[in-house]
Parts: sequence; structure tokens; C-alpha cells
Amino acid sequence: MAIQEETGPVLVTVYCDSCGNEETHDYLVPAGMDSIAVARRVLAENHGWVTGVRDYCPDCDTYPAAAPTESALSEL
Ligand SMILES: [Zn+2]
Repeated sequence: MAIQEETGPVLVTVYCDSCGNEETHDYLVPAGMDSIAVARRVLAENHGWVTGVRDYCPDCDTYPAAAPTESALSEL
């Protein structure tokens, strides 16, 4: 039997690696999960951030990892 305990809310701040913009929110972090990972996912899904190796706010979402591969392939 596994017990899933929620540890939270946890206050997490994610910084934009380009302009230094920051987003600070409370996140419900399931036990065993990294609070930073939860914050990045929420920011990416709901706030237009691009996260990964580096984090970029919606004003700086020029990070080339997300879209270009598929669009480039379709043009071949
Ligand atoms: Zn930024």
C-alpha cells in the first residue's frame, strides 16, 4: 500500500534565464516530486513559459528546442 501525501503548498520562484523576470506561486507538490519541476510544468502549460535546460518567460520564448524540429521536417 502506497501513501501519497501532498506536501504543500510550496512557494516556488522560477526565474527567466534571459531577462530575469520571476514568477512566484504556491504549488501543491505531490510527495516524491520536485517542486521546481511542478512549478515549471505549471508555468509552461498555463503561463506561456518555455522551460527545460533553461527557463524563459513569455517575453523571451525564443528558446529553439520546442517547435522548430517538427516545422523544419515538414518543409523538407
Ligand atoms: Zn524573460
